[in-house]
Amino acid sequence: MSKIRTRFAPSPTGRMHVGNLRTALYTYLIAKHEGGDFVLRIEDTDQGRYCEEALGIIYRTLEATGLKHDEGPDKDGGFGPYVQSERVASGLYMDYAKKLIEKGEAYYCFCDQERLDSLKQNVGGKEISVYDKHCLYLSKEEVEANLAAGKPFVIRANMPNEGETTFHDEIYGDITQPNEELDDMILIKSDGYPTYNFANVVDDHLMQITHVVRGNEYLSSAPKYTHLYKAFGWEEPKYIHCPLITNEEHQKLSKRSGHSSYEDLIEQGFVPEAVVNFVALLGWSSPDNREIFSLEELVEAFDYKHISKSPAVFDMVKLKWMNGEYLKAMDFDTFYKMAEPYIKEVIKKDIDLKKIAALVKTRIEVFPEIGEMIDFFEEVPEYDVDMYTNKKNKTNAEKSLPVLQELLPVIEAQEDFTNDALYQMLRGFADENGYKPGFVMWPVRTAVSGKRMTPGGATEIMEIIGKEETVSRMKAAIEKLS
Ligand code: GLU
Repeated sequence: MSKIRTRFAPSPTGRMHVGNLRTALYTYLIAKHEGGDFVLRIEDTDQGRYCEEALGIIYRTLEATGLKHDEGPDKDGGFGPYVQSERVASGLYMDYAKKLIEKGEAYYCFCDQERLDSLKQNVGGKEISVYDKHCLYLSKEEVEANLAAGKPFVIRANMPNEGETTFHDEIYGDITQPNEELDDMILIKSDGYPTYNFANVVDDHLMQITHVVRGNEYLSSAPKYTHLYKAFGWEEPKYIHCPLITNEEHQKLSKRSGHSSYEDLIEQGFVPEAVVNFVALLGWSSPDNREIFSLEELVEAFDYKHISKSPAVFDMVKLKWMNGEYLKAMDFDTFYKMAEPYIKEVIKKDIDLKKIAALVKTRIEVFPEIGEMIDFFEEVPEYDVDMYTNKKNKTNAEKSLPVLQELLPVIEAQEDFTNDALYQMLRGFADENGYKPGFVMWPVRTAVSGKRMTPGGATEIMEIIGKEETVSRMKAAIEKLS
């Protein structure tokens, strides 16, 4: 069997949609699973939708997610150019369109907009235009004369009217379409650019692509491509169409969701590895239902036969959970580097931010949760004395006051302000006074944090804010409760 070659063929039109990232990932995994080549091709023939910035986004996203291409515009592998506009400039698509014209499989069409508009029919409330092959019947002389006169033209495929075309997809199986439904699609537009429909076939063939992976929005056009391959006498690649990605309401995941692109997710504080892992499971699953995979593990495990036909739901709860798992597993220095800006946004005081990072590392799912979780380190928020009430520890505001008052001089006398030493001290204090540990810890933690929930217990907080601040917070609490 020849070497597997797959391609990711994005159009540079904006952000990297989650669906595109999934296509890139599956494309990469299919190649790498078999030791094949992963090719990057830029499909920039739709000049109207071209967006300068998007090219940078494509490269940066592939880099950040670890999807390294073996060939592409910046890495020649002998099948270039890898940018379609450069291929246009070389006249390549026009040459191939002319080959089809010679075979009677394509023809020049000079119809103007007015004539095309007159062909429009209302079918089930939708305006559709089926070309009537008018220009197929022009004589050779008429065509020559039109071309010589510089009349604008497109080149259309001459699709058969009878019989049927069967297209095979690795996921969706055989799809058969009556040929009368295949319209004479445009191959070369009036601006001389090829349509996607034509360029993808020519390029996939010339680049010796063995597996074409793409979203299932292309599935309905696929029989037309099959016909083009036949017209050229070329062997078709294997097709792998991936299922639709929907939001939780089962509608197509759109920009409006606010998390439809890779950049959205990174801006919201998700880590690339977690996003890649999550995206891998949007339409694919491992037979053993395992969920956490590094990219290398995906390469090992990815069998495209397990891609599903049913729509994949983008489940934010699951993505957050997964991100939390990645944060827990991450080495501390990497975590700190990513968490630091979120911590610094809230903490202006000169305290050990690394200790705060260590406290939140196992407790957050996404970075933006950090702010709310640690704001009390900077300043105790306004809180109600009800917060001293805790059933389990059998305490409340009234009972907390004497505990804090008795404890204050002990804390003032405490020299070693590390977590362990502070813990021993509080335990000792509780034992001496015949209190349960929680009966002491609860009021202290409330006094130093002003919060019902904190990352870490009383003594961890005390170590971080230091003795002076602890004493001052204790005094303020005593005053509040008095
Ligand atoms: N340029 C197309 C897109 O971005 C690629 C489709 C394909 O992979 O064939 O949707």
